[in-house]
Amino acid sequence: MRALILSDIHANLEALEAVLEDAQTRGGFDSVWCLGDTVGYGPDPGACIDRIREFDLLAVTGNHDCAAVGLIDASDFNDAAKAAAEWTASQLNTGQREFLKELSMVVKEGSFTLVHGSLRAPIVEYLLDRNSAAGTFGLMETSYCFVGHSHIPFMCRDAAEGPDFLDFSLDEQQSLEDSRWIINPGGVGQPRDRDPRPSYAICDTSKNTVQRHRVTYDIAKTQEKMRKAALPVHLIDRLDHGL
Ligand code: ZN
Repeated sequence: MRALILSDIHANLEALEAVLEDAQTRGGFDSVWCLGDTVGYGPDPGACIDRIREFDLLAVTGNHDCAAVGLIDASDFNDAAKAAAEWTASQLNTGQREFLKELSMVVKEGSFTLVHGSLRAPIVEYLLDRNSAAGTFGLMETSYCFVGHSHIPFMCRDAAEGPDFLDFSLDEQQSLEDSRWIINPGGVGQPRDRDPRPSYAICDTSKNTVQRHRVTYDIAKTQEKMRKAALPVHLIDRLDHGL
């Protein structure tokens, strides 16, 4: 089974469409596994929800998804994120709101666990260092865990001497057979690793392999929609820089 691993779409429909098209040209996929923050920041929250629901879908919630439907208070967000969360809430129809409200924090499927942030604090913790990785390895009931939230791609191996972060190189098939792993595919709709190109992964669950790819998309088109929606300028500009 080939799963398309998407995280942090952040209501960026042009980025999402570019990823879906690219994945189709690379052999396609059977399911979409979505790691949360489908909405927030970007101009097309409802359309992004509807689009991923067209596929066989396994999805978890993210902090922005929760904020958009009032499950968490956006007062902890910075001003730009809070403004975007309020705007997002006003854009969703009843079905889209229900979809976000019903998402789980953690989903297990075979050898894989999906969570937005970490297993210690599913929509809060950024898993970016050995301490946070060790916390999640300690709670993992499966061999592999996909996370998002930081928008930074990586692979982390559960090595004898402790969590070992590795670059998640592009376009190379990585075998997961030799260890337990935490994997972040990078962000689709708002990359933050100083590369503005959407990042995603395809996982072959029968071979236990994973491969990461990047695509280009029409950033200016997304930015123009954001300007029309009067979303914060900072959120519009950062798409150019992958920050
Ligand atoms: Zn996010």
